[in-house]
Amino acid sequence: MSKLFEELQPILDKDMALNTALTLLDWDNKTLAPEKSIEYTAKVMGILSDEAFRSFVNPEVRAILAKLEEHKEELEDNEKAILKKLLKDYEKMEKIPPEENREFSELEAVAGGIWAKAKNNDNFAEFAPTLEKVIHFQKKFAGYRKKGDEKIYDIVLSDYEECFNTEMLDAFFNKVKEEIVPLIKEVSARRDQIDKSYNALSYDVKKQEEFGKYIAEYVGFDFKKGVLAASEHPFTTNLHNHDVRITTHYYENDLESSIFSVIHEAGHAIYEMQVADELTQTPVGAGTSMGMHESQSRFFENVIGRSEEFWTPLYPKLQETFKEQLADISLEQFIAGINKSVPSLIRTEADELTYTLHIIIRYEMEKMFMENEIDIMKLPELWNQKYEEYLGITPPSDKDGILQDVHWSLGAFGYFPSYALGSAVAAQIYYHIKSIMPFEEYLKEGNLAPIREYLKEHIHRFGMTKNTNEFLMEMMGEELNADYYVRYLKEKYTKVYGL
Ligand code: ZN
Repeated sequence: MSKLFEELQPILDKDMALNTALTLLDWDNKTLAPEKSIEYTAKVMGILSDEAFRSFVNPEVRAILAKLEEHKEELEDNEKAILKKLLKDYEKMEKIPPEENREFSELEAVAGGIWAKAKNNDNFAEFAPTLEKVIHFQKKFAGYRKKGDEKIYDIVLSDYEECFNTEMLDAFFNKVKEEIVPLIKEVSARRDQIDKSYNALSYDVKKQEEFGKYIAEYVGFDFKKGVLAASEHPFTTNLHNHDVRITTHYYENDLESSIFSVIHEAGHAIYEMQVADELTQTPVGAGTSMGMHESQSRFFENVIGRSEEFWTPLYPKLQETFKEQLADISLEQFIAGINKSVPSLIRTEADELTYTLHIIIRYEMEKMFMENEIDIMKLPELWNQKYEEYLGITPPSDKDGILQDVHWSLGAFGYFPSYALGSAVAAQIYYHIKSIMPFEEYLKEGNLAPIREYLKEHIHRFGMTKNTNEFLMEMMGEELNADYYVRYLKEKYTKVYGL
């Protein structure tokens, strides 16, 4: 450690410790904590998070950061990365007047509840005034960080993925629309070709749990450094690279759901577990961005997990576990089943082919209301029009339409595109890996170690010290290129549907 940095280290350590405790409590609330504990645990969390904020945001730390910035050249590489990250965080927090921050926190505390009620009542008008306020605050907050003629929406986008702005996303999404919408229509017309009624039979939850553990370990989730639990919605949380926790949700009448959530979350977890020891527990010791994180989870879930090669050695085990239900379902039928595509209304239930269209719709609407003044009450109609245009279906209600996701009530604008970028990055990595190693052979042998090792060596171990495009550039001499993603979907669905 450089001499200059020594002053900052104890402050970072304390912040890390408090945040680790908060993360663990949050995990506990979502998994094991008893129903009546929340109010009391919330008090503990409030005190800890207040302490974390005050120990980090204060004039003393500000002065240390300024000094480090002045002598940046004397810092080691990792320290430079940490400083860059901290200055960015600081800028975001400092520019918002505390008064407005408090007002927004109050709004945020009730907005989720108002959204949930409006959704339940299937009544957008109940949520509209709250959404309008949330948008107003987010535009204002982003405005404080605006440099020159930067776009407001670009500022919030960069909070989730610094490499991509609206100009690049427009080009990316237009390409996807042009090429994928016709493919979706073609595939949709053949929806009856694939029968996956087997998936909705009754599957014992205990056995699903056993298989979930087995498959997590199979793809590389290390149970000595991780835990798999059940929760309402699947998620990953990490305390540090030696304690990464994932969850899934088991449905008795949906075999696929938990299998693919486990593989997805294991992909996130493998990323975190493979961050270098010298970076973990520092401000840059986690996955570099939401987009990159989603690329890793989707690489495992979709590219690896929905391939025939992956299931060739594994399917007999699944059949053995659920003899009664799967005895007559061949591997070919199963592969067709897990890749079946039908346009649907709900993003979280969408298949791999139609998923990005759900994201494009949210992106286009966010871009519009973040950049322009709009009549909030017109949003549901616009939402429905876009679903009809891109997916060929119209939501019968706001509940299944514009009110389906919680994110807008929390002010998380600019967040959705990361999901689509993740899919595109995953496809690009797939073609690259295929060109340098016998990828399919490894999957058929059940040997995922060389693939994990490659990802560790070229992405995971670096934590946040590089960004998405830097990783891609260094791996394959090319930044994100949407062509790979389009090619991947076309090749895959041509095969699945014999087009
Ligand atoms: Zn994910």
